[in-house]
Amino acid sequence: MTAELLKRVRDFTARELAGKDEHFDGLPEQPTVEAARLHGLGLANWWVPRQYGGLGLSLEESVDVVSELSYGDAGFAFGAFLPVLGGIMLQHFGDEALARPALEALVAGGGRIAVLGSEEEAGSELVRIATTFRTEGDRLVLSGDKYFSTNTDSAGLLLVLARSAEDAADFAVVAVPRDTPGVEIVKRWDLLGVRGAGTYRVRLEDCAVPAANRLGGSGLRILEAGLNASRILIAACAVGIARRIRDLAMEYAAGKRLRGAPLTENAVFAGKLGQTETLIDVMRNQCRAAAAEFDHLLAAAASGGTGLHRVGTLRSALAAKLFCGQAGWEVASTGSELFGGLGYTRDHPIGKLVRDMRYVAVVEGGEDIMRDLVYARYVVPARKRR
Ligand SMILES: Cc1cc2nc3c(=O)[nH]c(=O)nc-3n(C[C@H](O)[C@H](O)[C@H](O)COP(=O)(O)OP(=O)(O)OC[C@H]3O[C@@H](n4cnc5c(N)ncnc54)[C@H](O)[C@@H]3O)c2cc1C
Repeated sequence: MTAELLKRVRDFTARELAGKDEHFDGLPEQPTVEAARLHGLGLANWWVPRQYGGLGLSLEESVDVVSELSYGDAGFAFGAFLPVLGGIMLQHFGDEALARPALEALVAGGGRIAVLGSEEEAGSELVRIATTFRTEGDRLVLSGDKYFSTNTDSAGLLLVLARSAEDAADFAVVAVPRDTPGVEIVKRWDLLGVRGAGTYRVRLEDCAVPAANRLGGSGLRILEAGLNASRILIAACAVGIARRIRDLAMEYAAGKRLRGAPLTENAVFAGKLGQTETLIDVMRNQCRAAAAEFDHLLAAAASGGTGLHRVGTLRSALAAKLFCGQAGWEVASTGSELFGGLGYTRDHPIGKLVRDMRYVAVVEGGEDIMRDLVYARYVVPARKRR
């Protein structure tokens, strides 16, 4: 990515997101006016490949874009980058006739694709989902309840994980246009953090779509491959939030006097900020390394190399998500104490930043799940240890 492009994202953040904590923390209507402005600048869905008319930024470059956007608001960033998950699933597993119009529409309209996987009884254990599809002639008919899904109300296309009503071992990802009869938004969640995004509970009742809307291969494997991208970018949000906390801390400390000197000259404060900066650096490096690895695999898959479905969950993506959740939480915790009593009020943004930071560890698999996946995939099979 050119430095000029990143500067445009930084300028957008400063102009459209900064100083709007209350607005984004208030569950703004979706799509937000800021999302429309990002699209107006030609920056929405920046990752859509050039062959579909997009800017074609890599996932590694997206780490910096997301860090900039989440510096302004992590919820806005989450809603803006999450279509990359569905986009990758469509591009690499869907027919060209299905993928092309959907990806071109993201560029033309700045819209969203939502992914509906998790359910009330099957959040991380997707193998237990109860949403089904049945075949009726040349159509697939889907029914079920999806507990959490982000961007669904404003998305043009929903990618739904469902299991065959005829064969419980057959999982599919099916593309369902948002305006398909039977798609019902049950409610918008009143989230603790990332409230600038819209996350919904959704019911699907006899939603009929062409059979060709099924993506190729096992639905569980398709989702697993795509989650590498979104987990890395969720992790990148921790970088942006932590950078904001650091800058707020420096601003506060410059004006706060302790024992006759500004807090910035205090050794304890210096230690905290030195630690924060180091964590930011390591978080960013891990996100970039994981993203570069996934970029490499995407490029190989696009030119007919190793099928993405065989890639599974990358160790580096799990590490990015797990480490950034933990390190980000350490930064947020330091921040929540640093501003004294003011930091425990709604007059200061740190409370929102702490709530926003928490999502990094929770969404798309909590820490227990990340550790379990690393253990099961990379520790137990001796051949995968390095
Ligand atoms: C803001 C937000 C946005 C979301 N957006 C989407 C979306 O767009 N699409 C979508 O499909 N989903 C979405 N989700 C769902 C998200 O991915 C959930 O975090 C996930 O589904 C968690 O499932 P769960 O609530 O059943 O909890 P679980 O992950 O099942 O966790 C419940 C408990 O079980 C424990 N546990 C689970 N697995 C293990 C394990 N292997 N080892 C040890 N302990 C374990 C956990 O530690 C925890 O204590 C979203 C959620 C949120 C909060």
